[in-house]
Amino acid sequence: MGKRGYGLFDEEIIMVLSCFRRNCPNIMCNRYSDKYGYICASCFEELEQAPIDINIVDFMDSEPGTFLQECRDYNKIFPIME
Ligand SMILES: [Zn+2]
Repeated sequence: MGKRGYGLFDEEIIMVLSCFRRNCPNIMCNRYSDKYGYICASCFEELEQAPIDINIVDFMDSEPGTFLQECRDYNKIFPIME
């Protein structure tokens, strides 16, 4: 049982699931859409922060970090007081 378990585990590690987003270097995706392809965890997080009316095709065609930048700007407007 132990050996078989390791075998399956190895196969999972070898599989390369490249993120379909433009210029995203991540190759370990655990989310997949029939329509848009694989997306990595960080792009998915960014997609959640993107405007609600974002076109997913446009999002996948944008550079990673495009929408995170918008979020960082709020930190500049309301910086945490020290
Ligand atoms: Zn990605």
